[in-house]
Amino acid sequence: MTEKRPAAAGKITWKGAVRHFRTITRHKWLVMKGCFAVGLYRQGLFHDLSKYSPEEFFIGAAYYQGNRSPNNAEREAVGYSSAWLHHKGRNKHHYEYWFDYDAKGKHDVDSALVAIKMPGRFVVEMFMDRIAASKVYRGSEYSDSDALRYFKSGAKNDILIHPETAALLSELLEMLAEKGEKQTFAYIRNNLVRRRTVRKR
Ligand SMILES: [Zn+2]
Repeated sequence: MTEKRPAAAGKITWKGAVRHFRTITRHKWLVMKGCFAVGLYRQGLFHDLSKYSPEEFFIGAAYYQGNRSPNNAEREAVGYSSAWLHHKGRNKHHYEYWFDYDAKGKHDVDSALVAIKMPGRFVVEMFMDRIAASKVYRGSEYSDSDALRYFKSGAKNDILIHPETAALLSELLEMLAEKGEKQTFAYIRNNLVRRRTVRKR
């Protein structure tokens, strides 16, 4: 888990393929458990399925890291991550999926890209995704505050995450860090999923 592979790996090996398969499947299993626990069954089943497509799978196998996303290694080696571009365009639980051009014309053409507010159910799936990623990459060192720390160090300052999306995600991550999974999942189930606010399109 702790060994870091050279970023320039880039060659598909059986070992990389098997390890990458195990990592993404374990990740998917953890997200499914989280989504099922709050009543988001469909999203639990379909989460991250595109990771098994050739466009994403073989890149993941070639740049397998073990302790961080292979997309970072592909980025370092090639300059951008083709696997990530494929992934974020197909998976609504990533806020990067939700960029669009501003219909109100408030911006000039050069800066017309805006962040759209994510439906709550996808914010919840993103929350589960971040917990699972922290668990897989941190291993036995995982704690309930890991996902919050990661969020604070990155996405929080991203101008392309809608402020209300960031606020809801941040609220859930803070709750997780303070009160743990059991209470936070119960809160999501009772206040977000059951009230159907997250199901509203
Ligand atoms: Zn994903």
